[in-house]
Amino acid sequence: MSKLEIIDLHVSVSTEDGPKEILKGVTLTIDADETHAIMGPNGSGKSTLAYSVAGHPKYTVTGGQVLLDGEDVLEMSVDERARAGLFLAMQYPVEVPGVSVSNFLRTAKTAIDGEAPKLRTWVKDVNGALDRLNLDPTFGQRSVNEGFSGGEKKRHEIAQLELLDPKVAILDETDSGLDIDALKIVSDGVNRFREREGRGVLLITHYTRILRYIKPDRVHVFVDGKVAESGGPELADALEAEGYDKYLKSAV
Ligand code: ADP
Ligand code: MG
Ligand code: MG
Repeated sequence: MSKLEIIDLHVSVSTEDGPKEILKGVTLTIDADETHAIMGPNGSGKSTLAYSVAGHPKYTVTGGQVLLDGEDVLEMSVDERARAGLFLAMQYPVEVPGVSVSNFLRTAKTAIDGEAPKLRTWVKDVNGALDRLNLDPTFGQRSVNEGFSGGEKKRHEIAQLELLDPKVAILDETDSGLDIDALKIVSDGVNRFREREGRGVLLITHYTRILRYIKPDRVHVFVDGKVAESGGPELADALEAEGYDKYLKSAV
């Protein structure tokens, strides 16, 4: 089982003029084996939702709940959230100079599992994951995100997803900056993850393009800090044709 429930979530950031509410009551439930897409215009609060669920200190939850399999996520530290099975691929991944990809992945895996993975199977798993993402085995020796191209960063995120094997993955703008070949490779990786038993995915994106390769079960239109409309995959087609205009007009 893996079910992520976001219930009437309110989140603020502090600004020079005092606290500013960004999320204004977000409610959605991702059941086991479901992929949901959140789509919305820039500045609507999509990344804020991802960071808030992941526990980024910049965001203050002022109301609502986040539950993973009934457990209170908001009470957990960032590490505890990862151990509980939440995964966040960042829109702007940070550089970790001097730490190789393979050491980074092994440290993360050890932290999440509570024990170090067995070396022989681990090396095989890492090489397999890199290979499936069309990354050279020497990629494992490079410093995390240092000099990575946009596509390498995204593929590294998907390698993390495959190896860390969370219950629920939140992928923020996983498609941004990818050419069509890289988009397919990354989408295939996400789809492989989806095929595992009981996993959930929250796919956050501005553009409909990635939804041609990753077919969501549910689509949510996100406007001005909350869900303006929810529907099936056909909602993404409507957005592709019509854009966000009609939502923005009614939000003003
Ligand atoms: P999206 O990912 O949908 O583009 P974001 O979650 O990044 O949107 O941002 C939502 C809104 O919150 C934007 O208007 C942004 O300017 C504002 N915002 C985010 N972080 C801060 C901050 N630290 N201070 C002030 N405003 C912020
Ligand atoms: Mg599945
Ligand atoms: Mg964003």
